[in-house]
Amino acid sequence: MTSDKKYIYSFEEASLDLKPILGGKGASLGEMTSLDLPVPPGMTITTEACNLYFEKGEELPDFLEAGIEEYLKELEEKTDKNFGDDNDPLLLSVRSGAIISMPGMMDTVLNLGLNDKSVQGLAKETEDERFAYDCYRRFIQMFGNVVLKIDSHKFGRKLDELKNEVGADDDLDLTVEDLQELVSRFKGIIKQEAGIDFPQDPMEQLITAVEAVFSSWNNKRAIVYRDAHDIDHDLGTAVSIQTMVFGNMGDDSGTGVVFTRDPSTGANELYGEYLLNAQGEDVVAGIRTPKSISSLADSLPEVYEQLVEVTETLEEHYQDMQDIEFTIEKGNLYLLQTRTGKRTAKAAIKIAADMVAEGLIDEEEALLRVEPEHIEKILHSQIDPDAETEVIAKGLPASPGAAAGKAVFSADEAERLAEEGEKVVLITLETTPEDIHGVLAAQGVLTTRGGMTSHAAVVARGMGKPCVCGCEAVKIDFEAQEFSAGGQTINKGDHITINGGTGEVMVGHVDMIEPNLSEECQQLLEWADEIRDLGVRANADTGPDSSQALEFGAEGIGLCRTEHMFMAADRVPIVQKLILSESDAEAEEALAKLEPMQCSDFEEIFRAMQGAPVTVRLLDPPLHEFLPDLPELIEEVTELRIEGKQEKLREKEELLRKVKNMSESNPMLGFRGCRLGIMIPEIYKMQVRAVFKAALKLLEEGAAVEPEIMIPLVTHVNEFKILREQVEEEIDQLLAEAGQELDYKVGTMIELPRACLTAAEIAKEADFFSFGTNDLTQTTFGFSRDDAESKFLHYYVDEEIIEANPFITLDNKGVGKLVKMAAKDGKAVNDDLKVGICGEHGGEAESIAYCQEYGLDYVSCSPYRAPVARLAAAQAKIQSE
Ligand code: ADP
Ligand code: MG
Ligand code: MG
Repeated sequence: MTSDKKYIYSFEEASLDLKPILGGKGASLGEMTSLDLPVPPGMTITTEACNLYFEKGEELPDFLEAGIEEYLKELEEKTDKNFGDDNDPLLLSVRSGAIISMPGMMDTVLNLGLNDKSVQGLAKETEDERFAYDCYRRFIQMFGNVVLKIDSHKFGRKLDELKNEVGADDDLDLTVEDLQELVSRFKGIIKQEAGIDFPQDPMEQLITAVEAVFSSWNNKRAIVYRDAHDIDHDLGTAVSIQTMVFGNMGDDSGTGVVFTRDPSTGANELYGEYLLNAQGEDVVAGIRTPKSISSLADSLPEVYEQLVEVTETLEEHYQDMQDIEFTIEKGNLYLLQTRTGKRTAKAAIKIAADMVAEGLIDEEEALLRVEPEHIEKILHSQIDPDAETEVIAKGLPASPGAAAGKAVFSADEAERLAEEGEKVVLITLETTPEDIHGVLAAQGVLTTRGGMTSHAAVVARGMGKPCVCGCEAVKIDFEAQEFSAGGQTINKGDHITINGGTGEVMVGHVDMIEPNLSEECQQLLEWADEIRDLGVRANADTGPDSSQALEFGAEGIGLCRTEHMFMAADRVPIVQKLILSESDAEAEEALAKLEPMQCSDFEEIFRAMQGAPVTVRLLDPPLHEFLPDLPELIEEVTELRIEGKQEKLREKEELLRKVKNMSESNPMLGFRGCRLGIMIPEIYKMQVRAVFKAALKLLEEGAAVEPEIMIPLVTHVNEFKILREQVEEEIDQLLAEAGQELDYKVGTMIELPRACLTAAEIAKEADFFSFGTNDLTQTTFGFSRDDAESKFLHYYVDEEIIEANPFITLDNKGVGKLVKMAAKDGKAVNDDLKVGICGEHGGEAESIAYCQEYGLDYVSCSPYRAPVARLAAAQAKIQSE
């Protein structure tokens, strides 16, 4: 079979717009080639070829083999070397690269093309026998591992064995003879494990390597990584075949990784690591401890200068922070890869803001660069500066943030315990991509070897997981499942805390604090405020929460739940008296006690909000929630019966009777919300008086207040009409008595499907709608959230019976349709109707985008999510244009 479709591109033919088929690596190699940067020449085989390969049952079609040979000829001409030549062989790397970067998840083979003959040719041509055999032993190991699927440790152990025998501390101490011996022992492993002689035919080496790299798309760690990052399993990987350059040719050679900015903090300075006289993955694999990039300025100043220039070119071209792989061959710099660098939330925010200041990108672009989750992450806990800590070791600060949990020593164990709901910190020797599922499950990661650009460090930063790397002071005893450091022994299951911002390892569970928004973050959020249409309010029930909300940029309180004003320990007895009262006098007495208490609650909230609107929702839960628990009460009564304490028993029996009377078979749909307001008007009246007495107090002091009364759970317009009248009567009387005037609103929470369906009727009576999307989701789906989430909802989501958990992301097709319709119908009859949303969805980016689409006026969410909502609302606006 032949094909007209183009499956292979030389780097000259490749460019960024072909990224979907060339993968990130192939496209960037092409892009850098066209920028005239020093890139060793090569070709890329497309992801479509990969999919074809899988369709054919993991076999490379003949026409593709022919295509590779054709492009190889071109490469031979360009490099003036021949593939498989005995004297001066062209050597290749075979590299994977998907459209979405999956660092270290798939395989690479270096020095391909070497065999017993050409290794001698290479030695002669370079006049460096040691180098030639160093390349050969590396090739055999990588080929053995990637193509023949032999465990890498088998080679590693042979290497250690030999080093012991000859008394070499470092790989670099091995002589030519040692390396020749190593080659022969490595071949022995191949023979023993794969049952074949090490393949000598370069073309066979190449084709099987290409096939193996395609296959590595479906290795376990790649699949886990894709699941974790929601990457489509059908994308496939491209394969790049590239001319080798050599970092292992002495002390004027080396290999490294450089970020154009610090991916942890975002600081505008080069950040990275390198190793002299090393090849390929030595840096990222954490085998030797690499040196910081700034010291390259001393060891190879000219190369460093060139590197600085190149990073500037690339950053300007891509207009984003780049993560660059390079190799230095005898003082010459080569670029092997560039990609948009993964960064911490903190760095993402700083870089976006800085790049606007530098004129690289505009404000809208900066807002799109930061993910709402980034904002959420920087609001994550950090170690309380006042906390007492016992630091037992210090490693590299690889990914900031603090994490505490039980010590575990394997990725599998971390995953297992996390599934049981435990918080764990994963502690491993070195950072390997195989640990991905453990990294995912853990609160944080601690490794004893490996640098700042090791795979786990990169992966942890991407996930926003705290990580401490290369912590050599930590000595792990895997047998005993413990580690020792600073004279202490920590067993499996003991609590430890790590600080990924400083590299510290601490004993026990250290206290954490909530951090503030950085200057750059404030700046970004101010830009967001200028752009967004949606208002952002917060759900807050107390003075301190309200202050927090205001500090985080909320423009008002969208939902002040009043139930806790009935719940406090000193109030419950009064509330119970009220509920169980048998005469009006008893009830009035209880209400008279509650009113001033609640009045002071509201006063605190109004003060905190400094004149911004506050939506107070009148009492919502069923009254039996304030009464003693029924099973507990039954137990108590039984005990009293046994003990024979008559007087106390009679009292409790009476209580039990009342509680039983009030209990409901389905409280969620029972006697609650505005139904209470209609049947027991005194409670709502008391609440309204408390609100307006507080408001009057502020008015008298000359302070501004903007109270809004919200009636919950309305399903029929008449419920609202009755309650509005009641509420207004109470308010107007109060205002008249005080001789004051005050604008206020009365609106309703829309949280039942019938209210949505009859929104036009309700909107004629109401000043605002606030969609309570939690209850609206429950009542639209007919799911009780707790029951659904504990019994079947996760299965539904995993099996894709429904797209997502509708309690997290607003269900656009169902619940969203009701919201959209009700908002539209409501606004059509009432020009002044304000419409917002106050469920948890109000702080979730995707749901916020829907709110923008539905034409809502504001979202309201928890104070800590207000900054997230500000950004998400701006993004929704930009994307809607
Ligand atoms: P990964 O996706 O895991 O980073 P790469 O394909 O980038 O895998 O290869 C890993 C490393 O191998 C590179 O960082 C580089 O050091 C080395 N390498 C790849 N191709 C070449 C080459 N042509 N010459 C020299 N080194 C190479
Ligand atoms: Mg790479
Ligand atoms: Mg509700």
